[in-house]
Parts: sequence; C-alpha cells; structure tokens
Amino acid sequence: MKKYLETDVLIVGRGMVGATTAIALARAGFNSIIIDQVKPSDQNIKTYDGRASAIASASKKMLEQLDIWDRLGENYTPIFDIRVSDQSSKHFLHYERHVLDSKPLGFMVENRHFRYAVNNELESLEPITPISNVKIETIRRNNEGVFAALTNQQTIKSTLIVGADGRQSQVRTDASIALTRFDYKQTGIVLTVEHEHDHNNIAHEHFYSGGPFAILPMKNESGKNIRSSIVWIDKTEQILKILKLPDKQFNSILNQKFGDFLGRIIVVSSKWTYPLSFQFADKCIDERLVLVGDASHGLHPIAGQGFNMGLRDVAALVEVITNNARLGLDIGGFATLREYETWRRFDNTSMLFFTDTLNRLFSNNILPLKVIRQLGLSITNNLGPLKKYLMLYAMGEVGDLPKLLKGQSL
Ligand SMILES: Cc1cc2nc3c(=O)[nH]c(=O)nc-3n(C[C@H](O)[C@H](O)[C@H](O)COP(=O)(O)OP(=O)(O)OC[C@H]3O[C@@H](n4cnc5c(N)ncnc54)[C@H](O)[C@@H]3O)c2cc1C
Repeated sequence: MKKYLETDVLIVGRGMVGATTAIALARAGFNSIIIDQVKPSDQNIKTYDGRASAIASASKKMLEQLDIWDRLGENYTPIFDIRVSDQSSKHFLHYERHVLDSKPLGFMVENRHFRYAVNNELESLEPITPISNVKIETIRRNNEGVFAALTNQQTIKSTLIVGADGRQSQVRTDASIALTRFDYKQTGIVLTVEHEHDHNNIAHEHFYSGGPFAILPMKNESGKNIRSSIVWIDKTEQILKILKLPDKQFNSILNQKFGDFLGRIIVVSSKWTYPLSFQFADKCIDERLVLVGDASHGLHPIAGQGFNMGLRDVAALVEVITNNARLGLDIGGFATLREYETWRRFDNTSMLFFTDTLNRLFSNNILPLKVIRQLGLSITNNLGPLKKYLMLYAMGEVGDLPKLLKGQSL
C-alpha cells in the first residue's frame, strides 16, 4: 500500500490565485491537490473579505477561457471611464472607452462573488482534490519529487509544489527564499456606499497627500448602478484616528473626500482595513517549487493590479508546464521553472516599480512633485498615444502575453 497521495502538482493556498491555478492545470490535463488552512465555506461568506477587485480585460478573457467567468452570472460591473484627479488641482486625466473602440476598461467583481464562482468550478473538476483545514508540517524536495507532510497526518507526493499561500507564504519561508519588504505606513479602508445618482460605470481616483481615494462602480442587489466600492488610503496613524470616530464624524469626512457629484451617500457595509506593504520575493522558483500571486509579489493597490498580476503568473506557469510536458520534459524540472521565472520576472518587477512610483509621486505634499505630477496628468491626458498605451497597460493587454490572457486555449 502507498504511504502517500500522489499528484502532478500540490498547490498550497486556495485563495483567488491558487484556486484559478488548479482549474487552469485541470483544463491542461494535469491533476492537482489544493490545500488551504481555511474551509472554502468560510472564505465565501460576506464577512471574510470586503474587497471588490478591478479585473483587467485580459484577465477576463482568461477567466472566460477557464469557465470561471460564466459562474459569476450577473455579478460584475463594467468600468467604461476612469477619472483621475490630484487633490483640488484643475489638472486631471480621463481614460475614456471611446479611445479603445468603446471596450470596457475593466470589470468590478466583489471578491466574495469571485471566490464563490471559482470554488464552484473547482469542485466540479475531477482532476482536482481539495483538502481544507490543513497546513503543511514538513516539505522535502529532491530529484524524485516533493514530499509534503500535512497537519492531518496525510503525506502528498507531487512533481511540483506551487506556493499560492499569500503574503505570509509558508512555502516561500520554508524554501528560505528571501523577501524585499517595506511598510508603506499607509492603511486602506474598504467599504461600500450607495448613492442617489447613477455612477454611469465611471471609476474615480482622487489623489490626496496621505494616499489615493478610489470610487469604484458596482451594482446593488436589484442591478442598479447606485453602489460603489470605496478604497480609502491614508497614513496609518490617520486611518486609526478616523476609525475611532463616531459614525457621524466618520461620515462627514467620507462625504468631504467623496464629493457630492452622486448625490447623498450612505455606507451600506462594514469597514475593512488593510495595512499596506511592498513585498517582492528574491526569486519565484526553487527546486520543484514555484511561487504565484501575493506569495511572490505584494503590490500597492493604487492601480488595482495585484490579483491581475497573480492571474498572469498562473497563465504563464500553466502554459510553460503544458509545453514542456508535450516535449516529454519534467514539469518540475529546472528548465521548465526557469522559463516561468524568465517570463514573469520582468512584468512583475515593472508593475511593482510602477505602482510604488505612482504612490510615492502622488501621496505627498512636496511642491516640486506636485508640479511634476499635475503636469504629468495634463500631458498624459492630452497625448493620445501615451494615454492609449497606459490604458492598454492597465487592461493587461501589453507585453508578451500567455495564451490564456489572449483568450486562447492551451
Ligand atoms: C485594499 C486592496 C484592494 C485591492 N484591489 C485590487 C484590485 O482592484 N484589483 C486587483 O487585481 N488586485 C487588487 N488587490 C490585490 C489582491 O486582492 C491580491 O493580490 C489577491 O487577493 C492575492 O490573492 P492570492 O490568492 O495570491 O493570496 P491570498 O488572497 O492571500 O490567498 C492565500 C490563501 O492561502 C491560504 N494560506 C495562507 N497560508 C497558508 C498555509 N500556511 N497553509 C495553507 N493555506 C494557507 C489562505 O487561507 C488563503 O486562502 C487589492 C488589495 C488590497 C489590499
């Protein structure tokens, strides 16, 4: 009798990125075991995560290809325009969809809806074996494979282990992969509001000296465009003070930041807080091991790209594995993993650098920087090709894209 469960790939972490990895692998003909320390039923509930994610159009193509998008039903809201402004300055930047043949720039999806959709799809696929409420006790990796002993006394043997276990990744730590990390000393409050007027599918991002304030279009339960998700970032000490205020004072500051262009607003959700940091693993591969999503890179949410980057990791990884398997090569071998690292490293580094620079440039009151950024907004707004490039970049349509992100099968 075998002492262990055998699979092609062991995925640690059934968050939005890990669950998508399992589905993409299944579609490409690989079986996997996916484990998480939490039960999926606990992750699907409203109180687990208050965020809504801006899903780039290329990511949507991938999710359609993997049959995850259909499972969302009507639970998404297209973003047609994005309006960016800097405090009370008259300079602004408008990304309008007519610049790109009226295609939506992205789609807002509540994380709880995404989790529900992805978990339902995952449960329907035979090549995937989910195990919940467990962690890894020990991992041994060598020529023969990966041997992982779980806290429930099971042992798994796989060809490859994927660390999709988020910012505090145990897989990364266990492999002694160093991390470049610093605290932004900023925290994000996430909450949902309803307003009198239709948002017309326009997203707004106002930059204040403490951090950005984003108003992201959503629908209410009856499908009306009168709900928005707010990501309110400020210096952590300031956020902690604001959170202690009675509702009346809290709402008054919220109203000031929001403005009155959508009429009266009321808060219709709890308030969630997310302390923000920059994180980048020194490498995203090791012997028979890869990192994807936040386990590999933690971005500032200023441009709403963290999850999109995770999806790009998954698309590249599964394509590389598929191609190498077709050539008869070891899917956990160094040549395969090196290809993944080469493909993803440049894109990850550029996006980390882009979001970090954006935050540094806008989250301050330093006069010369104020002048530079206001000029920058104005120039970009009036310079067609640059504006178009930035829109395509945010939509995930630029660069050497894996097939799934182009809406192609593997
Ligand atoms: C305020 C805010 C707004 C954001 N908005 C956007 C946006 O608009 N668009 C966008 O693209 N991105 C956005 N992001 C980023 C995005 O939310 C993350 O990049 C994404 O959720 C990361 O997913 P993940 O699956 O890699 O990690 P996680 O969501 O952290 O999932 C990790 C999983 O691993 C499990 N796990 C952890 N440790 C272990 C262990 N030792 N053993 C077993 N299981 C384990 C956890 O239970 C969890 O299920 C935002 C982030 C913030 C903070």
